Amino acid sequence: MTTAQPGDPLVQRMRPFGTTIFSEMSALAVRTGAVNLGQGFPDTDGPPEMLAAAAEALASGANQYPPLPGIPALRAAIADHEQRFWGLTRDPDTEVGVTAGATEAVAATVLALCETGDEVICFEPYYDSYAASIALAGAVRRPVTLRPGPDGRFVFDEAELRAAFGPRTRLVLLNSPHNPTGKVFTRAELELIADLCQEHDVHAVTDEVYEHLVFSDAATPHLPLASLPGMRERTLRISSAGKTFSCTGWKVGWATGPAPLVSAMLRVKQFLTFVNAAPLQPAVAVALGLPDDYFHDFTAGLQDRRDRLVAGLTEAGLRVLPSEGTYFVTADIRPLGGVDGVEFCRDLPRRGGVVAVPTQVFYDDQEAGRHLIRFAFCKRSEVIDEAVRRLKSLT
Ligand code: PMP
Ligand code: GLN
Repeated sequence: MTTAQPGDPLVQRMRPFGTTIFSEMSALAVRTGAVNLGQGFPDTDGPPEMLAAAAEALASGANQYPPLPGIPALRAAIADHEQRFWGLTRDPDTEVGVTAGATEAVAATVLALCETGDEVICFEPYYDSYAASIALAGAVRRPVTLRPGPDGRFVFDEAELRAAFGPRTRLVLLNSPHNPTGKVFTRAELELIADLCQEHDVHAVTDEVYEHLVFSDAATPHLPLASLPGMRERTLRISSAGKTFSCTGWKVGWATGPAPLVSAMLRVKQFLTFVNAAPLQPAVAVALGLPDDYFHDFTAGLQDRRDRLVAGLTEAGLRVLPSEGTYFVTADIRPLGGVDGVEFCRDLPRRGGVVAVPTQVFYDDQEAGRHLIRFAFCKRSEVIDEAVRRLKSLT
């Protein structure tokens, strides 16, 4: 969140973007020895079959440039996975493209599809890279605000969404399951978004990196927007291996959708990174083919840790909002006398020995998120317990 100084050589359109809040907060955790429940990364490794496949690929020569769209085995595995879990049929040769994480897929897509001045509708709080990708493309973001409803679940106002569409709308960029709120968009919400995309003839880009991390008590199971009637042909669906297989540092992502959209994305991607992660691609192919039990057990284990953290945060006096999926839960700091999440989180390591992330930085309407902070529960139980122990004695 450090912003550029006058005289900085950085281009104007990137000036509003400093160091990401995740890097800032992880550095703060290292500096202060606080328990890091800020940046969302697991502290345990992913499936051993996947790790063994990566080691084998590395030792057996898979170390040169893979093909631009990704190795055939990974593209086939991505297509099979989409069929198995979401009933979406993809041609692995033309409708799947592998990227350097979901981050690159989002950036390449926005750069590929937006002319200068085009508008991109997204829901705020939004994942930080969306704002930067939109700015790099010279496009304009049109956020629609998610606010806690009567039961604490985040909802948006239909009229606000309708009003966000206009003659310059080019894309809707939707993240569900949603970081940082843990919201899973309901079928009714998705149907409204789908109707508006069709009425205004715009593309949808969906970030579904948490597609498997939806808990058993969620109001709704995860539903890809692309699976709704009329949406397959206008949606580019993005996901990645990082969350599902606990390998956030691998940065293996992908986009699936109609051939023209995948091809447009890849035309830009080839000049960003060209290709990536040669020895990791076969390993992710193995992971995507793991039996259903893997996906179920991983999410069930994460749900236990969510429950552990939610109980602890509640005992520590925070108002915890429901998390239906992802790695994250949102808490309201006002019951503890907190007013501003940024100040609260900057001070939390000193006061409580824990790092969290202020949700405010993901809003244009900063007041809407001023009192909200995000905790990550993708950590070992003992780490969560230690964080809770510390938070309970907050001074
Ligand atoms: N989108 C969302 C919503 C995320 O939370 C993250 C964080 N990892 C990403 C994209 C980035 O994914 P990747 O690491 O695969 O680039
Ligand atoms: N997606 C991770 C989070 O939300 C952070 C990724 C990053 O640091 N860019 O915590």
